Amino acid sequence: MRHQLALEGGRPIRDQLLPYARHTIEDDDVEAVVHALRSDWLTTGPRVEELEHAFAERIGTRFAVAYSSGTAALHGTVFAARIGPGDEVVVPTFTFAASAACTIYQGALPVLADVDPITLNLDPAELERRITRRTKGVVVVHYAGTPADMNQIRAIAQKAGIIVIEDAAHAAGARLGDQACGAMGDMAVFSLHPAKQLTAGEGGIVTTDDPELATRLRRFRNHCMHTTGREREASAAYAYTIDELGYNYRLTDIQAALGLSQLRKLDRFLARRRKLAAAYSELLVGRPELVCPAVLAGTEPAWHLYVVRLALEQLVVDRDAVFGALRAENIGVNVHYIPIHLLGYYARLLGHRPGDFPVAENAFRRILTLPLFERMTRADVDSVAAALDKVLSRYARH
Ligand SMILES: *Cc1c(COP(=O)(O)O)cnc(C)c1O
Repeated sequence: MRHQLALEGGRPIRDQLLPYARHTIEDDDVEAVVHALRSDWLTTGPRVEELEHAFAERIGTRFAVAYSSGTAALHGTVFAARIGPGDEVVVPTFTFAASAACTIYQGALPVLADVDPITLNLDPAELERRITRRTKGVVVVHYAGTPADMNQIRAIAQKAGIIVIEDAAHAAGARLGDQACGAMGDMAVFSLHPAKQLTAGEGGIVTTDDPELATRLRRFRNHCMHTTGREREASAAYAYTIDELGYNYRLTDIQAALGLSQLRKLDRFLARRRKLAAAYSELLVGRPELVCPAVLAGTEPAWHLYVVRLALEQLVVDRDAVFGALRAENIGVNVHYIPIHLLGYYARLLGHRPGDFPVAENAFRRILTLPLFERMTRADVDSVAAALDKVLSRYARH
């Protein structure tokens, strides 16, 4: 039977799994890495600096500081901001755990907040509600690559005297009006994980305009030593001092070479993602069983993820059933994210339970991340739409 679900013994829409994300590595990326491998510096060398300069220029900030991962970079921002024990940082619950973990690494506490029902980004009214005498900062996530309401958030933060850290892991290349994501807070963090818009294998970058924050960020990734090995070599000196606890969060030159090569392609990657997202919206909009992602006027999303929400009222099954049926059709759908307050460690630490953040939980029950990556073809998009059509037709409430 043509329309029988793969889950029920029918033929799957695709023969092989279409993943939700996949990196693009081309010959010149490989050559750049090989070149770095044959050079004098495998880590903390000239390519790291080159990547930092190019990244700062792309985002439009004075400084960029490279880290070994986006998570390490987030840790660095909390250190640089001098946030520590007894301090609170407001974090949306609808994000990856690293957005909150970074505060705990430094002995501070994340204070979770609910999100806007349309964008699923931090709700400015929630931020205002969660600020106390102990609040030192806010981590703002640009979920899926959709810019958060930074104008309101910045105004609230300024009034409260707290620091704004953008978690821009989804948002390389995203814009809000004439402002770039990554240039709207005191510091911003990007990730170079292979699932993100551009990759270094692993890696993270902090952007900032503040020279003192940039200096603290550079020290923190290198044990808080006041000089780097390269500087000591150049000045034929051995001396350094360490005044605070730091880590080894250094990015290698091998990774930086890849990151640099990828950064040159960012605009092409973004254009491709935009085109694929438009194809999804064109195919799916108007289907009563789902809601396509909204693009607010004046924003340019970076399309890290294409997340649809199921209209559960129109279906006889829940999201997990739709998820399972699509996976059986070899469509690599995913779920971003399980709200942080529902994860065991965070629920225990912060004393949260289901029901605490209704907007995030309602979204969580409905979301499905559809495959989206640079090398996807139009035929791949069509296969996802066909699988959705098959599965949603089967489960539609008539
Ligand atoms: C990917 C991601 C991170 C962490 O980045 P890594 O480079 O994987 O450590 C942080 N926050 C968000 C929202 C992310 O999606």
